[in-house]
Amino acid sequence: MKVIERIKNSSKPLFSFEIIPPLKGNRIDSIYESIDPLIEFEPSFINVTYHREEFTYKQREKGYLEKISMRKRPGTVAICAAIYNKYKIDTVPHLICGGFNKEETENALIDLQFLGINNVLALRGDPIKTEPHFVPTPGGHAYAIELVRQLKNMNQGIYLDEDIKGNPTDFCIGVAGYPEKHFEAPNMAMDLKYLKDKIDAGAEYIVTQLFFDNNKYFSFVDKCRELGINVPIIPGIKPITQLRHITFMPKFFHVELPETLTHELLKCKTDAEVSHVGIAWSIQQSKELLSKGVPGIHYFTMGKSLATREIVKNVF
Ligand code: FAD
Repeated sequence: MKVIERIKNSSKPLFSFEIIPPLKGNRIDSIYESIDPLIEFEPSFINVTYHREEFTYKQREKGYLEKISMRKRPGTVAICAAIYNKYKIDTVPHLICGGFNKEETENALIDLQFLGINNVLALRGDPIKTEPHFVPTPGGHAYAIELVRQLKNMNQGIYLDEDIKGNPTDFCIGVAGYPEKHFEAPNMAMDLKYLKDKIDAGAEYIVTQLFFDNNKYFSFVDKCRELGINVPIIPGIKPITQLRHITFMPKFFHVELPETLTHELLKCKTDAEVSHVGIAWSIQQSKELLSKGVPGIHYFTMGKSLATREIVKNVF
């Protein structure tokens, strides 16, 4: 079922979560092991992230450096199909602009349609590590909105291959939103304008970047509503579980840690202590979000579902 239908048909807020494909060489069992602890809470859908190639240099004979392209976590589409096959739970593959030209995107979407997967989270993707800013793949999309338009076209039976007539796809399109602003946007107003463009182009719901201060989410939703963005906005939550997260979260996700939370975290000496504080914070965040009538909560498990289990057990 489409995510938007699940939201509309449900009498209670939805629980969903995101997993990342295992590193190359690992088996699908590692995915199942991260899903199993969460199954009893009846997730409405499971997202699977997409990770584009990275470039590294390997030293060869006579000191030559060879530029190598590597995809460390392949398999998003196959993992989605495997999850559905095993658990009969809807999956949402993340599809990104980076690393694909439009034809490759069209072919990936046709594969998804053949597999009966009709949800997609349409994203631009981050710049690759060796580039200072996002560089579109030749013949590919520069912004997520272009991917939304391609999806919308296919939903209307318009393919890049003009010889294909009819056979429209039926994708439910989600997009990302940033309660604390996307790090490249010059200001919040511009970021919200581009978000509205994605909705006007056909996206049906928004999943937010993780945040630790609910007031940022509430203020973001208010601003969206003022602009006429009326689709469901699902908050994204991730617990802090390691000492290194205290600096990693702000650096990598461009989000702030509230002073009260930071104060508690800085007293911790071990990951176990951090995890205790982080989980308690996420429980409190989740309870407040639910009390204010959010359509659901989406948890970023990052392959570590036990912390998410601890939160969900206390909340859903
Ligand atoms: P866009 O909506 O294209 O926005 C990117 C930037 O460009 C913003 O600053 C925006 O304000 C600006 N902008 C948008 N349109 C225009 C325009 N027309 N002209 C000028 N500026 C414009 N990344 C992955 O690689 N794989 C994943 O699986 C993944 N999953 C994610 C899941 C969630 C819930 C979230 C919130 C993010 C995820 N990301 C993932 C990260 C995401 O790809 C990055 O944050 C990326 O930098 C932006 O993606 P976007 O889709 O928001 O881009």
